[in-house]
Amino acid sequence: MNNINLRDIIIKRGSSIHDAMALIDKNAKGTLFVVGDDERLCGVVTDGDIRRGLIKGVTLKDKLTTVMNSSFVALKESVAFEDIADQLKAKYKYIPILDGNGRIVDYYSFIFNVRIPVAKPSLSGNEAKYLMECIATNWISSQGKFVEKFESQFAEYLGVRYALSTCNGTAALHLALEALGIKEGDEVLVPALTFIATANAVTYTGAKPIFCDSELDTFNINPRDLEKRLTERTKAIIPVHLYGQPAKMDEIMEIAKRNDLYVIEDAAEAHGAEYKGNKVGTLGDVGIFSFYGNKIITTGEGGMLTTNNPKTYESVKKLRDHAMDENKKYWHNRVGFNYRMTNLQAAVGCAQLERIDDIIKNKMEIMKRYDKYFKEIETLGLSPRNEFSKNVCWMYSLIIDEKKNGFTRDSLMDHLLEKNIECRHFFYPINEMPPYYDSQILPNAHYLSNSGMNIPSYATITKEEITNISKIILKFINQGI
Ligand SMILES: *Cc1c(COP(=O)(O)O)cnc(C)c1O
Repeated sequence: MNNINLRDIIIKRGSSIHDAMALIDKNAKGTLFVVGDDERLCGVVTDGDIRRGLIKGVTLKDKLTTVMNSSFVALKESVAFEDIADQLKAKYKYIPILDGNGRIVDYYSFIFNVRIPVAKPSLSGNEAKYLMECIATNWISSQGKFVEKFESQFAEYLGVRYALSTCNGTAALHLALEALGIKEGDEVLVPALTFIATANAVTYTGAKPIFCDSELDTFNINPRDLEKRLTERTKAIIPVHLYGQPAKMDEIMEIAKRNDLYVIEDAAEAHGAEYKGNKVGTLGDVGIFSFYGNKIITTGEGGMLTTNNPKTYESVKKLRDHAMDENKKYWHNRVGFNYRMTNLQAAVGCAQLERIDDIIKNKMEIMKRYDKYFKEIETLGLSPRNEFSKNVCWMYSLIIDEKKNGFTRDSLMDHLLEKNIECRHFFYPINEMPPYYDSQILPNAHYLSNSGMNIPSYATITKEEITNISKIILKFINQGI
């Protein structure tokens, strides 16, 4: 089953009515699809069917099949849903969609009363189980089996030698810079268009972030612009893989090599994204990831630092724990930090990692579906795509150029919000905000920031919700409403 969002609506034919009620209570959909051992759909049960059965004298221990409807309405994957939606809407709340073998691949829902958020975590695997294990065994702090397990499994997933967990992604960035010896008087090149954490981590070390312009085709740091900003003081580059799209790493690594600079990849938004077949976070000297609640996988708050360099690994490990001397407990030769991840966070992380392939697969599918609706519209800019990388679509992006479209990005955002659909505008260029104001306008970063927006792209969004969102946007574009 590749659609993780199906788990709470499908029940096995051999289950009891009690099991069915428990699942209906959990999914709050009032409907279950019943499948046989071969996973083919064999019936549908609603809360009304159960209620009527109980009135007639059926008991909770009885088989679900005593109240199941064996005649049901289902759709083939290939059917164009839009054509028949109105007919079905009046009669059904949920309709299963089957593949050629009668197995459920998705479902349509006619319930629209809830606000669609721009992002939300999917915690339907072993997250609760592993968390409870921490509580039951008292391993709730930063020691415990999940921390090391999460680190080694994350390293294995990426194909990198070392992974070290941290309390959040910003801490991982700060540790990376400290471990590489970045300090006051140094300069670090960062894109202007990113989350502010990228620049703040540089500031924490006493060094100065130098802001570079973006490229329109990847939304990421422009290697040519970066090169122009090199000085004697430049020590490192932090390319950010914004919204899941890898930066142009070959060009960046080449400049770094030629000028003897470190490269720290900020992959906080790009778990599993690939550049020329390699996962991001493995290409520079250090990579960092975030597991904040809206990121591709989450631990609530959390971060990870990755590297192939044993010296960097040892140094980060020590700095993360107040730089305590390995051989002399409570002896410290320099100022370190407490940036450790808890076993509780790592427990959630292990469960998330078990499902990362499914989550990314769903995100790629989401990108394809949105593309289908928007790719014909020449006035729209879309999430970057190219042959050298795999964009994992942390968030699907639209670029609304007012001159080309005749309306502003903000007017579309307001319209979507009225329809209960949440979206986000792009980050502000960091060099245009008070702590870093430097009076220059970086044209591409400024343009993208003013015209870019992200629309809902979380892993469990349904096909039908995407259709709904896309049609509202298309209608707005075509008719200005
Ligand atoms: C989220 C994010 C971070 C920081 O991660 P936290 O876990 O929130 O500290 C850093 N850089 C980018 C680009 C991010 O999106």
